[in-house]
Amino acid sequence: MMFQLENVTYKNILQLKLLQIQAGSVTSIIGKSGSGKSTLLKLLNNMISSDSGVIYYNDKSIEEIEPVELRRQVVTLTQYPAIFEGTVKDNLLLGLKLSEKNYTTVNDEVLSRTLAMFNLQTKLGVDANKLSGGEQQRLAFARITLMKAPVYLLDEPTSSLDEETEDLVMDRFISRAKAEKTTVVMVTHSMKVAETYSDFIINMEDVNAYK
Ligand code: ADP
Ligand code: MG
Repeated sequence: MMFQLENVTYKNILQLKLLQIQAGSVTSIIGKSGSGKSTLLKLLNNMISSDSGVIYYNDKSIEEIEPVELRRQVVTLTQYPAIFEGTVKDNLLLGLKLSEKNYTTVNDEVLSRTLAMFNLQTKLGVDANKLSGGEQQRLAFARITLMKAPVYLLDEPTSSLDEETEDLVMDRFISRAKAEKTTVVMVTHSMKVAETYSDFIINMEDVNAYK
């Protein structure tokens, strides 16, 4: 298992007896708004700590893993990803810089190819804040893709995209994840996305004793 949660509780939001995320799989988390989906993702990279219970990452309690190291491996994409002041290129390189990866070998051609992977034709020198919401969401996909993380947590990552673009982005991201045996946990409101792209679907109503 990539993650195993045992008797995890968080405030009056989550009470999970047992929840497992299989390594190398794509797992979708579905459930009503307010059912604790985002809270669950935050627990998985220790952005927040559970009140009780244990969360194992690769058989090790996440409390015993250095947070910086954990987040270098477990990379999150939020619903409204932060876009930083600067160019598209600055934004692409930021994830690598923050995770202290060696990015000197990532040249402009690699960057442009990664943008193209998500159908983003913008130039690297463009001001990132000039991009539309949907373009920024795809820029964020490109940014995390460059990080080559073993685990990705995606929180409603396609909310600003039209259905056609959502399909393209998910298809490209998940195809690569499958090829590289990456573990993906994604929150989605779209049953179609969940059914098309995931190996497992977890419904919060089935696993959360609070509701
Ligand atoms: P979802 O992502 O499924 O919509 P969330 O995990 O964001 O749900 O939120 C679950 C519940 O927890 C909601 O009722 C929300 O208002 C509440 N909540 C979220 N964050 C906090 C917090 N830091 N402290 C207290 N309550 C919170
Ligand atoms: Mg949420």
